[in-house]
Amino acid sequence: MPRKITRLSATKISTFEQCPKYFDFQYVKRVDRTFTPVEWEVGSIVHDIIARLFKQIKGRQRGIIPRLGNPDWYQPLLVEAVAGLKQQIDDKTIRVVRPDEELSSYEGQMNSALTTFTATVLPLLENHKIIGVEADLGRFHLAGVQMDGRLDLITQSGGNLYVHDWKTGGRRDEDERQAKIYYFASKDKYRQPATTFSLYYLAESGDIILSHTYDQEQRAELESEISGIVDRMSALDEYHAQPSVLCHWCPYGPQCEEGTAHMGDYPAPSRKDQIDLGLGT
Ligand code: SF4
Repeated sequence: MPRKITRLSATKISTFEQCPKYFDFQYVKRVDRTFTPVEWEVGSIVHDIIARLFKQIKGRQRGIIPRLGNPDWYQPLLVEAVAGLKQQIDDKTIRVVRPDEELSSYEGQMNSALTTFTATVLPLLENHKIIGVEADLGRFHLAGVQMDGRLDLITQSGGNLYVHDWKTGGRRDEDERQAKIYYFASKDKYRQPATTFSLYYLAESGDIILSHTYDQEQRAELESEISGIVDRMSALDEYHAQPSVLCHWCPYGPQCEEGTAHMGDYPAPSRKDQIDLGLGT
């Protein structure tokens, strides 16, 4: 019998929509993962390297983001991270799921994301004052449920508040819901008159930034959407399996009968199959 829903996050909701049984493994039963897909780790590494930069600036530069003189600032951190990633792949705690991929491809993705971040995003943040790095959402409730999440970077410039979120995967429909949750959480937590929430798609080129502001009507719509999700979650007698191509990336696949059967029938796609998996953080 599912438990009463008291805490949610954008990630938890996406997991539930992908497969309720996956949600059950991860957030209800809290089963140990069999492995972590390499795509998740790629996202974590990029986020971690960027967070380290801003934490250092916050500690040493009075929190004012300077013009960075060294465009390769991240290279030593990336080299260290790739060595750790290789070890974890060898140890089989991290898995390269696609049959035609090797570590070098993911190393290239991380390098490209950090190059894009350095060339395109950092100059826009010059002279912003850092308010927070990897900050929580505070006591933010929607439909009576505590919403959790992590704000990658919060800055202030010209009396306005800017909240920044790095994306290392492709654009997904649910990004809009996350943007609304994070925007209204930031409004409540920091109480600044003008707040902007921006998503940065670091794996893309060209126009990689999507900025949002929302009004009270959209807050009411979000509250109603979350209420509906909570009702759907609470009404289920059991968290049923919803097999799909994403089973190959599910850390509980080897422990899941339905997922194992599906993966037997449909092998993991290669990159050339161009299936949009919506992976990444
Ligand atoms: S393996 Fe597939 S069906 Fe099983 S829990 Fe994971 S996503 Fe759901």
